[in-house]
Amino acid sequence: MPTIEVVCPSGLQGTVRGLRGAELDLFANADAVRNNRVTSQILAACWSGSPSSSPVYTKMGDTIKWDDVLVADRFYTIFKVREATRGEIYTPTLRCVGVGSCGHKFKTDFNLNDLEVFDLPQETIDSLAAGVNEFKFHVNEATVYNQVLFGKDEAKIEKNKKLTPEELATTSMVSRILRVEIPAHCLPTGKGSPYRSLGDGDIKVLAGADLRTWIRSLDASDWDLVRDGLEAVDGGIDTEVCVTCPKCGNEIEGDLPLDPAEFWMRKKQDASSKRKGRRASRG
Ligand SMILES: [Zn+2]
Repeated sequence: MPTIEVVCPSGLQGTVRGLRGAELDLFANADAVRNNRVTSQILAACWSGSPSSSPVYTKMGDTIKWDDVLVADRFYTIFKVREATRGEIYTPTLRCVGVGSCGHKFKTDFNLNDLEVFDLPQETIDSLAAGVNEFKFHVNEATVYNQVLFGKDEAKIEKNKKLTPEELATTSMVSRILRVEIPAHCLPTGKGSPYRSLGDGDIKVLAGADLRTWIRSLDASDWDLVRDGLEAVDGGIDTEVCVTCPKCGNEIEGDLPLDPAEFWMRKKQDASSKRKGRRASRG
């Protein structure tokens, strides 16, 4: 079984092996490629290397604890395990969706090594190595204090399994924000507003439910500013892809679909072509 050398976004270095046959069935049946518990199992089984290769993990000791590893490193390493298992070509099923789309379902090859990888910025590495997981950026007049996520943080988010996609997007954003400081004049102060008693020069600190309300009220461009601010201090793989529908020519943009069965198993046509005794197609 081939092993692959891995250098993670934080500088963490090691090697991974591919999944073995018996492991594949288990992981291909998980509910998501990003499932936190399954990811931890795969990483524990396939990784070898000391955590001390990255300044972020020098206090971890000799044995890596995946719960305490950055989500960016975990996700990157899973892609390398996939490469060691099935190679770098991944062929997910896509659907033509969006305005003017035809709904056609089709498969397209992606080379996983063509996806853009972002290393953790040096200032983030230095800050984490010094034990500080707090960063900040501005959105208009608000100051957003944020953190980067580790495996154990992701596990908490996944406990909320029943969320709608919109709630999940909000939750995933809120989980990376510690608090927001915002001048009173930027908040609604009309009748019934919880901010009515604030004076004009006051700064309100939003956390918890207030923070969630603020996130949900953001318009599209401010939402993008927050997402850019969060991503600026983080690393990882950019899974946003753009494909042309082979049927109607529509440009489809979105996240690379990560269906566990497709991600871990071989292509169906490769499997079928090896079987003997296939009936001639009836036509
Ligand atoms: Zn189409």
